[in-house]
Amino acid sequence: MTTSTDRIKELQRQIEAEQRKINNCKHTYGEPFYNPETVKEGYGSVQVGRGSDPCWDYAGYRDVEVDRWTKKCTLCGHEVHTKTQKPIIKGYEPDFK
Ligand SMILES: [Zn+2]
Repeated sequence: MTTSTDRIKELQRQIEAEQRKINNCKHTYGEPFYNPETVKEGYGSVQVGRGSDPCWDYAGYRDVEVDRWTKKCTLCGHEVHTKTQKPIIKGYEPDFK
């Protein structure tokens, strides 16, 4: 009989095998795509400390979308994210005056 423990060990073995494939992959990334991330942003202020040691915390959190771009390996699916952009260097062309 296959027990849950046997099953977990088998799954861990598979996870390690897949992780090795990712680690050994010579990543070939496809075109980057816009992939905004939803993050929690604190708002407001409430006092949480008491007496001589008052301190403040956010009154709550709301979801905010932030710019993010992702490129994904076409071989193993490994993803790399960035939240910054850099200017595209356009270079020079012949100048016929
Ligand atoms: Zn890869």
